[in-house]
Amino acid sequence: MQPTELAAILEQKLTRPSIYHLDVCTRCNACTERCHMYIETKDPIHSPAYKLALLRRVHKRYHTIAGKIAPKLFKAMELNEDNLKEISSAMFECTGCRRCTTHCPLGIDPPWLISTGRFLSFKANKSPEMLSMLSNMAVEKAKNISQYSDLYLQQIKELEVQLQKEIKDPNAKIPVKNKDAELVYIPIAGAHTIMPAAKIFNATGENWSLSQLDSTNYNYFLGNVEAAKEVTGELIKEAENLGVKTVVMSECGHGFRIMRHLATKWFNRTLPFEVKSIAEVMAKYIEENVVKLDPSRNPGIVTYHDPCQLGRNGGIYEEPRMILNQVVTEFRDLTPNREYNWCCGGGGGLVALPEFKDLRMKTGKKKVEQIRETKANIITSMCENCRLQLIDLNDYYKLGLEITSLSDLMANAIIH
Ligand code: SF4
Ligand code: SF4
Repeated sequence: MQPTELAAILEQKLTRPSIYHLDVCTRCNACTERCHMYIETKDPIHSPAYKLALLRRVHKRYHTIAGKIAPKLFKAMELNEDNLKEISSAMFECTGCRRCTTHCPLGIDPPWLISTGRFLSFKANKSPEMLSMLSNMAVEKAKNISQYSDLYLQQIKELEVQLQKEIKDPNAKIPVKNKDAELVYIPIAGAHTIMPAAKIFNATGENWSLSQLDSTNYNYFLGNVEAAKEVTGELIKEAENLGVKTVVMSECGHGFRIMRHLATKWFNRTLPFEVKSIAEVMAKYIEENVVKLDPSRNPGIVTYHDPCQLGRNGGIYEEPRMILNQVVTEFRDLTPNREYNWCCGGGGGLVALPEFKDLRMKTGKKKVEQIRETKANIITSMCENCRLQLIDLNDYYKLGLEITSLSDLMANAIIH
């Protein structure tokens, strides 16, 4: 693609409010000192303010008179090969955690703009290859889900037998395509997110249905909203066909954020169902005393990592803590936590990209220090990406931790 075509794409994506954000940034760097990536590397490319400056310079070069007439004088940036490489590194070496946003005195949201920079890099063929591949596969799978249906149903039947054995209940079910269901549960591919939820729903007598789709949506990490909408649209279609009142998202940070906070904006309509995190549903069961719990089944010191997409970006802080206080013997919070929590270093799709492993280990150091302070031997987090990063950090820094999901802890504590 020619530089002018890429510049046109950038301009189309940069809304008036986002250009305003670029303009009003005072370069005070209050955000920079709060970014775990910058703190650990001291590389300017990891400064959120620097990332915004790159976008501002490109915008200036192609869409202001000053930048067009005297680009050097006004430090306007050409979209040439070298600059595109630098832009791509700056935009993809970011976990989208929004810790910088929390500390900007002007309320500027760098990751919002960084997402636009990611899309520009994607269009310039400069996005990480694996991310583009996973994104294409996700769209193809969501659009052709009926082709996988028979195999999926067979796998779920096998899982149902395993469930019946594990909870010693021959009537336990994992219903799929249940037209009478009150809620549909959207898992992440793999039995590990289905089994604990199935145990909880069976113990509570919930009228549920298991989705055939997956909550992960890699296109979101490319800033490719149109493709991300194709995946989300299939989730909406499935829920509407089933006629459920609630869509329950599994422990997937970005999947939850998309369905709860972005889908109505993307599709410009109200959805005929509520969207909840499984954390909210589990907390409701506990509040309503629907299940009996034995916390001694989860002994040890347990700590909780707030996933950026569920907590800071999604508003779910208290439910996981309320659940932990009921299902484990000792819960110790990390410091800082909630909106000031440190990112684990695996977000923004980075955990799926092998070439980012060294950087992820380096920039996960703040998280490691936080965990060590608690002396916990178990850590849980309500996001698959965070847990994968915690597994890598655990190996790399020899933390000796057990890493588990919150639904696993709750399922384990249930007295059947
Ligand atoms: S804190 Fe806000 S104003 Fe200051 S450099 Fe960062 S984005 Fe710009
Ligand atoms: S979103 Fe997180 S990783 Fe990205 S610049 Fe902001 S603080 Fe750093």
